[in-house]
Amino acid sequence: MNAIERIIPITVAPAPTFLAATPAAPGEALRDTRGRAVRDLRISITDRCNFRCVYCMPKTVFGRDYPFLPRNELLSFEEIERIARAFVAQGVEKIRLTGGEPLLRHDLERLIEQLAKLPVEITLTTNGSLLAKKAQTLKDAGLHRVTVSLDALDDAIFKRMSDVEYAVSDVLAGIEAAAAVGLAPVKVNCVVKRGVNDNQILPLARHFRGSGQILRFIEYMDVGSSNGWKMDEVLPSAEVVARIDAEFPLAAIGANYAGEVAERWRYVDGSGEIGVISSVTQAFCGSCTRIRLSTEGKLYTCLFAQSGHDLRALLRSGGSDTELTGAIAGIWRARGDRYSEIRTAETAGAKKIEMSYIGG
Ligand code: SAM
Ligand code: SF4
Ligand code: SF4
Repeated sequence: MNAIERIIPITVAPAPTFLAATPAAPGEALRDTRGRAVRDLRISITDRCNFRCVYCMPKTVFGRDYPFLPRNELLSFEEIERIARAFVAQGVEKIRLTGGEPLLRHDLERLIEQLAKLPVEITLTTNGSLLAKKAQTLKDAGLHRVTVSLDALDDAIFKRMSDVEYAVSDVLAGIEAAAAVGLAPVKVNCVVKRGVNDNQILPLARHFRGSGQILRFIEYMDVGSSNGWKMDEVLPSAEVVARIDAEFPLAAIGANYAGEVAERWRYVDGSGEIGVISSVTQAFCGSCTRIRLSTEGKLYTCLFAQSGHDLRALLRSGGSDTELTGAIAGIWRARGDRYSEIRTAETAGAKKIEMSYIGG
Protein backbone atom coordinates (compact mmCIF):
# COMPACT_ATOMS: atom_id res chain seq x y z
CA MET A 1 0.00 0.00 0.00
CA ASN A 2 1.45 3.41 -0.86
CA ALA A 3 1.11 6.51 1.27
CA ILE A 4 -1.65 8.01 -0.86
CA GLU A 5 -3.79 4.93 -0.35
CA ARG A 6 -3.26 5.30 3.35
CA ILE A 7 -4.65 8.79 3.45
CA ILE A 8 -7.39 8.56 0.85
CA PRO A 9 -9.65 5.59 1.48
CA ILE A 10 -9.85 3.05 -1.28
CA THR A 11 -13.62 3.16 -0.82
CA VAL A 12 -13.79 6.83 -1.87
CA ALA A 13 -17.25 7.53 -3.24
CA PRO A 14 -17.52 8.50 -6.90
CA ALA A 15 -17.44 12.25 -7.51
CA PRO A 16 -20.70 13.36 -5.93
CA THR A 17 -23.40 14.94 -7.97
CA PHE A 18 -24.85 17.59 -5.73
CA LEU A 19 -28.54 17.76 -5.10
CA ALA A 20 -29.79 21.10 -6.24
CA ALA A 21 -31.18 21.73 -2.76
CA THR A 22 -32.90 24.91 -1.74
CA PRO A 23 -30.70 26.85 0.67
CA ALA A 24 -32.08 27.70 4.10
CA ALA A 25 -33.77 31.10 4.05
CA PRO A 26 -32.13 33.91 6.06
CA GLY A 27 -32.90 33.36 9.74
CA GLU A 28 -34.00 29.75 9.14
CA ALA A 29 -31.69 27.04 10.57
CA LEU A 30 -30.37 24.42 8.16
CA ARG A 31 -30.93 21.05 9.89
CA ASP A 32 -29.61 17.55 9.25
CA THR A 33 -31.59 14.29 9.49
CA ARG A 34 -31.20 14.32 13.28
CA GLY A 35 -32.32 17.93 13.70
CA ARG A 36 -28.83 19.37 14.25
CA ALA A 37 -28.07 22.84 12.89
CA VAL A 38 -24.78 23.69 11.16
CA ARG A 39 -22.86 26.14 13.37
CA ASP A 40 -19.11 25.42 13.29
CA LEU A 41 -16.95 25.24 10.18
CA ARG A 42 -13.42 23.86 10.59
CA ILE A 43 -11.09 24.57 7.72
CA SER A 44 -7.83 22.67 7.25
CA ILE A 45 -5.51 25.07 5.45
CA THR A 46 -2.52 22.75 5.13
CA ASP A 47 -1.90 19.03 5.46
CA ARG A 48 1.73 19.69 6.48
CA CYS A 49 3.07 19.92 10.00
CA ASN A 50 6.40 20.55 11.72
CA PHE A 51 5.44 18.05 14.48
CA ARG A 52 4.98 14.30 14.19
CA CYS A 53 2.66 13.63 17.14
CA VAL A 54 2.44 9.88 17.61
CA TYR A 55 -1.36 9.97 17.82
CA CYS A 56 -1.79 12.05 14.67
CA MET A 57 1.12 11.93 12.18
CA PRO A 58 3.41 9.07 13.25
CA LYS A 59 6.76 9.09 11.44
CA THR A 60 6.22 5.51 10.31
CA VAL A 61 3.50 6.80 7.98
CA PHE A 62 4.33 10.51 7.61
CA GLY A 63 8.02 10.01 6.84
CA ARG A 64 10.44 12.06 4.74
CA ASP A 65 8.94 10.88 1.45
CA TYR A 66 5.34 11.36 2.39
CA PRO A 67 3.48 12.86 -0.60
CA PHE A 68 1.85 15.94 0.86
CA LEU A 69 -0.56 17.81 -1.41
CA PRO A 70 1.04 19.95 -4.11
CA ARG A 71 0.23 23.67 -4.02
CA ASN A 72 -2.27 23.66 -6.90
CA GLU A 73 -4.34 21.05 -5.09
CA LEU A 74 -4.89 23.32 -2.09
CA LEU A 75 -7.88 25.59 -1.98
CA SER A 76 -6.77 29.16 -2.65
CA PHE A 77 -7.62 31.85 -0.10
CA GLU A 78 -10.25 33.18 -2.49
CA GLU A 79 -11.87 29.73 -2.74
CA ILE A 80 -11.81 29.31 1.05
CA GLU A 81 -13.36 32.71 1.53
CA ARG A 82 -16.12 31.93 -0.98
CA ILE A 83 -17.00 28.66 0.74
CA ALA A 84 -16.87 30.29 4.18
CA ARG A 85 -19.22 33.04 3.03
CA ALA A 86 -21.70 30.44 1.74
CA PHE A 87 -21.59 28.63 5.08
CA VAL A 88 -22.15 31.82 7.03
CA ALA A 89 -25.24 32.43 4.89
CA GLN A 90 -26.42 28.95 5.99
CA GLY A 91 -26.01 29.59 9.73
CA VAL A 92 -22.33 29.04 10.58
CA GLU A 93 -21.33 31.20 13.56
CA LYS A 94 -17.77 30.08 14.16
CA ILE A 95 -14.85 29.32 11.84
CA ARG A 96 -11.78 27.48 13.10
CA LEU A 97 -8.60 27.36 11.01
CA THR A 98 -6.65 24.18 11.54
CA GLY A 99 -4.56 21.59 9.74
CA GLY A 100 -1.84 20.15 9.79
CA GLU A 101 -0.16 23.13 11.36
CA PRO A 102 -2.03 26.23 10.15
CA LEU A 103 0.82 28.62 10.99
CA LEU A 104 2.88 26.93 8.25
CA ARG A 105 0.55 28.24 5.53
CA HIS A 106 2.26 31.13 3.79
CA ASP A 107 0.57 34.52 4.19
CA LEU A 108 -2.13 33.14 6.48
CA GLU A 109 -2.79 36.65 7.78
CA ARG A 110 -4.21 37.61 4.38
CA LEU A 111 -6.80 34.84 4.66
CA ILE A 112 -7.69 35.89 8.20
CA GLU A 113 -8.18 39.49 7.05
CA GLN A 114 -10.71 38.27 4.47
CA LEU A 115 -12.55 35.95 6.87
CA ALA A 116 -12.64 38.58 9.61
CA LYS A 117 -15.01 40.63 7.45
CA LEU A 118 -17.67 37.92 7.96
CA PRO A 119 -19.99 38.25 10.99
CA VAL A 120 -18.53 35.20 12.78
CA GLU A 121 -15.93 34.31 15.38
CA ILE A 122 -12.56 33.34 13.82
CA THR A 123 -10.36 30.99 15.83
CA LEU A 124 -7.31 28.87 15.13
CA THR A 125 -5.81 25.69 16.58
CA THR A 126 -2.02 25.46 16.60
CA ASN A 127 0.80 23.42 18.10
CA GLY A 128 2.14 26.77 19.34
CA SER A 129 5.71 26.33 18.09
CA LEU A 130 5.57 29.41 15.82
CA LEU A 131 2.99 31.35 17.81
CA ALA A 132 5.34 33.63 19.75
CA LYS A 133 6.52 35.09 16.42
CA LYS A 134 3.07 35.33 14.86
CA ALA A 135 0.67 36.25 17.67
CA GLN A 136 0.68 40.00 17.01
CA THR A 137 0.20 39.79 13.23
CA LEU A 138 -2.59 37.23 13.68
CA LYS A 139 -4.35 39.53 16.12
CA ASP A 140 -3.87 42.52 13.81
CA ALA A 141 -5.35 40.53 10.91
CA GLY A 142 -8.55 40.01 12.93
CA LEU A 143 -8.18 36.61 14.60
CA HIS A 144 -10.31 36.43 17.75
CA ARG A 145 -8.89 33.51 19.76
CA VAL A 146 -6.42 30.61 19.63
CA THR A 147 -6.34 27.09 21.00
CA VAL A 148 -2.86 25.70 21.61
CA SER A 149 -2.06 22.00 21.86
CA LEU A 150 0.35 21.01 24.63
CA ASP A 151 0.57 17.42 25.86
CA ALA A 152 3.23 17.71 28.57
CA LEU A 153 5.25 20.14 30.67
CA ASP A 154 8.18 17.79 30.89
CA ASP A 155 10.43 18.07 27.81
CA ALA A 156 11.16 14.35 27.52
CA ILE A 157 7.47 13.40 27.65
CA PHE A 158 6.58 16.25 25.29
CA LYS A 159 9.09 14.78 22.84
CA ARG A 160 7.60 11.30 23.23
CA MET A 161 4.24 12.73 22.15
CA SER A 162 5.33 15.25 19.45
CA ASP A 163 8.39 13.35 18.18
CA VAL A 164 10.26 16.58 17.31
CA GLU A 165 13.02 18.70 18.78
CA TYR A 166 10.93 21.69 19.85
CA ALA A 167 10.97 22.52 23.55
CA VAL A 168 8.00 22.97 25.86
CA SER A 169 9.29 26.51 26.49
CA ASP A 170 8.65 27.38 22.78
CA VAL A 171 4.99 26.47 23.18
CA LEU A 172 4.66 28.21 26.54
CA ALA A 173 6.15 31.37 24.99
CA GLY A 174 3.53 31.12 22.23
CA ILE A 175 0.71 30.82 24.77
CA GLU A 176 1.98 33.85 26.72
CA ALA A 177 2.39 35.91 23.55
CA ALA A 178 -1.15 35.05 22.42
CA ALA A 179 -2.59 36.05 25.79
CA ALA A 180 -0.53 39.25 25.83
CA VAL A 181 -1.87 40.45 22.46
CA GLY A 182 -5.47 39.65 23.46
CA LEU A 183 -6.10 36.34 21.66
CA ALA A 184 -7.71 35.32 24.91
CA PRO A 185 -8.75 33.36 26.78
CA VAL A 186 -6.22 30.92 25.31
CA LYS A 187 -7.44 27.34 25.45
CA VAL A 188 -4.72 24.74 25.96
CA ASN A 189 -5.55 21.24 24.66
CA CYS A 190 -3.83 18.13 26.00
CA VAL A 191 -4.48 14.75 24.38
CA VAL A 192 -4.06 12.11 27.07
CA LYS A 193 -2.52 8.77 26.13
CA ARG A 194 -2.56 6.36 29.04
CA GLY A 195 0.92 5.29 30.08
CA VAL A 196 2.60 7.95 27.91
CA ASN A 197 1.63 11.39 29.23
CA ASP A 198 -1.07 10.82 31.86
CA ASN A 199 1.48 11.66 34.56
CA GLN A 200 1.44 15.21 33.11
CA ILE A 201 -2.19 15.89 34.04
CA LEU A 202 -1.35 17.29 37.47
CA PRO A 203 1.76 19.27 36.45
CA LEU A 204 -0.29 20.90 33.65
CA ALA A 205 -3.16 21.64 36.03
CA ARG A 206 -0.75 23.20 38.56
CA HIS A 207 0.89 25.30 35.83
CA PHE A 208 -2.28 26.72 34.24
CA ARG A 209 -4.39 27.08 37.40
CA GLY A 210 -4.91 30.79 38.04
CA SER A 211 -3.32 31.81 34.70
CA GLY A 212 -6.54 32.81 32.93
CA GLN A 213 -5.87 30.14 30.30
CA ILE A 214 -8.30 27.22 30.04
CA LEU A 215 -6.70 23.80 30.13
CA ARG A 216 -8.69 21.02 28.44
CA PHE A 217 -8.00 17.31 28.35
CA ILE A 218 -9.02 15.35 25.25
CA GLU A 219 -9.54 11.60 25.19
CA TYR A 220 -7.22 9.95 22.69
CA MET A 221 -9.36 9.11 19.63
CA ASP A 222 -9.29 6.60 16.80
CA VAL A 223 -9.12 9.28 14.09
CA GLY A 224 -7.51 8.23 10.83
CA SER A 225 -5.95 4.83 10.29
CA SER A 226 -2.31 5.39 11.10
CA ASN A 227 -2.06 5.85 14.87
CA GLY A 228 -2.74 2.21 15.84
CA TRP A 229 -5.39 3.32 18.36
CA LYS A 230 -6.36 0.91 21.14
CA MET A 231 -9.12 1.43 23.68
CA ASP A 232 -6.85 0.60 26.61
CA GLU A 233 -4.69 3.64 25.75
CA VAL A 234 -7.66 5.94 26.41
CA LEU A 235 -7.77 7.48 29.86
CA PRO A 236 -11.45 8.28 30.53
CA SER A 237 -12.09 11.95 31.30
CA ALA A 238 -13.79 10.92 34.55
CA GLU A 239 -10.39 9.76 35.75
CA VAL A 240 -8.74 13.03 34.69
CA VAL A 241 -11.32 14.96 36.72
CA ALA A 242 -10.89 12.63 39.71
CA ARG A 243 -7.10 13.06 39.73
CA ILE A 244 -7.28 16.86 39.61
CA ASP A 245 -10.17 17.01 42.08
CA ALA A 246 -8.12 15.05 44.64
CA GLU A 247 -5.54 17.88 44.71
CA PHE A 248 -7.68 20.89 43.76
CA PRO A 249 -11.42 20.38 44.45
CA LEU A 250 -13.57 20.91 41.37
CA ALA A 251 -17.28 21.62 40.79
CA ALA A 252 -19.16 21.07 37.52
CA ILE A 253 -20.36 24.14 35.61
CA GLY A 254 -22.77 24.47 32.69
CA ALA A 255 -21.91 24.80 29.02
CA ASN A 256 -21.22 28.25 27.56
CA TYR A 257 -23.47 27.47 24.59
CA ALA A 258 -25.52 24.59 23.17
CA GLY A 259 -23.31 22.02 21.46
CA GLU A 260 -20.11 22.89 23.40
CA VAL A 261 -17.96 19.76 23.31
CA ALA A 262 -15.99 20.36 26.50
CA GLU A 263 -17.56 19.52 29.83
CA ARG A 264 -16.52 22.37 32.16
CA TRP A 265 -15.29 22.18 35.75
CA ARG A 266 -14.27 25.12 37.97
CA TYR A 267 -11.74 25.14 40.76
CA VAL A 268 -13.71 25.58 43.96
CA ASP A 269 -11.12 28.09 45.24
CA GLY A 270 -11.89 30.42 42.32
CA SER A 271 -8.66 29.91 40.41
CA GLY A 272 -10.25 29.26 37.02
CA GLU A 273 -11.61 26.29 35.16
CA ILE A 274 -10.66 23.19 33.18
CA GLY A 275 -12.51 21.26 30.49
CA VAL A 276 -12.66 17.63 29.43
CA ILE A 277 -13.57 16.39 25.98
CA SER A 278 -14.83 12.83 26.24
CA SER A 279 -15.40 11.89 22.64
CA VAL A 280 -14.76 8.21 23.36
CA THR A 281 -16.41 7.53 26.73
CA GLN A 282 -19.30 10.01 26.42
CA ALA A 283 -20.16 10.65 22.80
CA PHE A 284 -21.71 14.01 22.02
CA CYS A 285 -22.92 13.33 18.46
CA GLY A 286 -26.47 14.32 19.44
CA SER A 287 -25.42 17.97 19.60
CA CYS A 288 -22.70 17.96 16.93
CA THR A 289 -22.96 21.10 14.83
CA ARG A 290 -19.54 20.78 13.16
CA ILE A 291 -18.55 20.36 9.53
CA ARG A 292 -15.02 20.14 8.11
CA LEU A 293 -13.45 21.42 4.92
CA SER A 294 -10.25 19.60 3.95
CA THR A 295 -7.14 21.26 2.56
CA GLU A 296 -8.12 20.34 -0.99
CA GLY A 297 -11.74 21.36 -0.68
CA LYS A 298 -13.61 18.23 0.29
CA LEU A 299 -16.41 18.62 2.78
CA TYR A 300 -16.72 16.06 5.60
CA THR A 301 -19.79 15.88 7.79
CA CYS A 302 -17.99 13.87 10.50
CA LEU A 303 -14.45 13.64 11.86
CA PHE A 304 -14.59 9.90 11.21
CA ALA A 305 -16.01 10.08 7.70
CA GLN A 306 -14.73 7.75 5.02
CA SER A 307 -15.38 10.07 2.09
CA GLY A 308 -16.07 13.72 1.39
CA HIS A 309 -17.91 15.96 -1.05
CA ASP A 310 -15.73 17.74 -3.59
CA LEU A 311 -16.58 21.43 -3.37
CA ARG A 312 -13.37 22.39 -5.16
CA ALA A 313 -14.59 20.57 -8.28
CA LEU A 314 -17.80 22.56 -8.09
CA LEU A 315 -15.92 25.86 -7.77
CA ARG A 316 -13.32 25.10 -10.43
CA SER A 317 -15.95 24.01 -12.94
CA GLY A 318 -17.54 27.45 -12.74
CA GLY A 319 -20.28 26.75 -10.16
CA SER A 320 -22.19 29.84 -9.06
CA ASP A 321 -22.65 31.01 -5.46
CA THR A 322 -26.26 29.80 -5.62
CA GLU A 323 -25.09 26.34 -6.68
CA LEU A 324 -22.50 26.34 -3.91
CA THR A 325 -25.02 27.25 -1.22
CA GLY A 326 -27.47 24.71 -2.63
CA ALA A 327 -24.80 21.98 -2.53
CA ILE A 328 -23.95 22.82 1.08
CA ALA A 329 -27.62 22.73 2.04
CA GLY A 330 -28.11 19.36 0.30
CA ILE A 331 -25.05 17.82 2.00
CA TRP A 332 -26.01 19.03 5.47
CA ARG A 333 -29.69 18.03 5.15
CA ALA A 334 -28.62 14.47 4.23
CA ARG A 335 -26.24 14.20 7.21
CA GLY A 336 -26.90 11.43 9.72
CA ASP A 337 -23.42 10.91 11.24
CA ARG A 338 -23.03 9.64 14.80
CA TYR A 339 -19.79 7.69 14.68
CA SER A 340 -18.79 8.09 18.33
CA GLU A 341 -22.13 6.71 19.46
CA ILE A 342 -21.66 3.52 17.46
CA ARG A 343 -17.87 3.03 17.77
CA THR A 344 -16.72 -0.58 18.13
CA ALA A 345 -13.31 -2.25 17.93
CA GLU A 346 -14.18 -3.02 14.29
CA THR A 347 -15.09 0.53 13.28
CA ALA A 348 -11.98 1.81 15.09
CA GLY A 349 -9.84 -0.35 12.80
CA ALA A 350 -11.64 0.76 9.62
CA LYS A 351 -10.01 3.04 7.08
CA LYS A 352 -10.76 6.69 7.87
CA ILE A 353 -9.53 10.12 6.86
CA GLU A 354 -6.42 11.33 8.72
CA MET A 355 -6.90 14.17 11.23
CA SER A 356 -4.03 16.22 9.76
CA TYR A 357 -5.84 16.27 6.39
CA ILE A 358 -9.42 16.79 7.50
CA GLY A 359 -8.51 19.24 10.30
CA GLY A 360 -8.88 18.67 14.04
N1 SAM B 1 -1.48 21.22 14.46
C1 SAM B 1 -2.47 21.89 15.22
C2 SAM B 1 -2.48 21.41 16.64
O1 SAM B 1 -1.88 20.37 16.93
O2 SAM B 1 -3.09 22.07 17.46
C3 SAM B 1 -3.86 21.80 14.63
C4 SAM B 1 -4.29 20.50 14.02
S1 SAM B 1 -4.44 19.16 15.15
C5 SAM B 1 -4.96 17.87 14.09
C6 SAM B 1 -5.89 19.63 16.04
C7 SAM B 1 -6.13 18.95 17.35
O3 SAM B 1 -6.37 17.59 17.14
C8 SAM B 1 -4.98 19.03 18.34
O4 SAM B 1 -5.43 19.60 19.55
C9 SAM B 1 -4.58 17.60 18.52
O5 SAM B 1 -4.09 17.37 19.80
C10 SAM B 1 -5.87 16.87 18.23
N2 SAM B 1 -5.68 15.47 17.86
C11 SAM B 1 -4.95 14.97 16.85
N3 SAM B 1 -4.99 13.63 16.83
C12 SAM B 1 -5.80 13.26 17.86
C13 SAM B 1 -6.23 12.01 18.39
N4 SAM B 1 -5.85 10.85 17.84
N5 SAM B 1 -7.06 12.02 19.46
C14 SAM B 1 -7.44 13.18 20.02
N6 SAM B 1 -7.08 14.39 19.58
C15 SAM B 1 -6.24 14.44 18.52
FE1 SF4 C 1 0.80 18.26 13.80
FE2 SF4 C 1 -1.25 18.99 15.28
FE3 SF4 C 1 -1.16 16.53 14.26
FE4 SF4 C 1 0.54 17.18 16.19
S1 SF4 C 1 -1.71 17.11 16.35
S2 SF4 C 1 1.06 16.12 14.28
S3 SF4 C 1 0.91 19.28 15.78
S4 SF4 C 1 -1.33 18.39 13.11
FE1 SF4 D 1 -19.72 14.87 15.35
FE2 SF4 D 1 -18.90 12.71 14.04
FE3 SF4 D 1 -17.66 13.47 16.29
FE4 SF4 D 1 -20.15 12.44 16.39
S1 SF4 D 1 -18.31 11.39 15.76
S2 SF4 D 1 -19.40 14.27 17.50
S3 SF4 D 1 -21.02 13.27 14.47
S4 SF4 D 1 -17.74 14.63 14.35
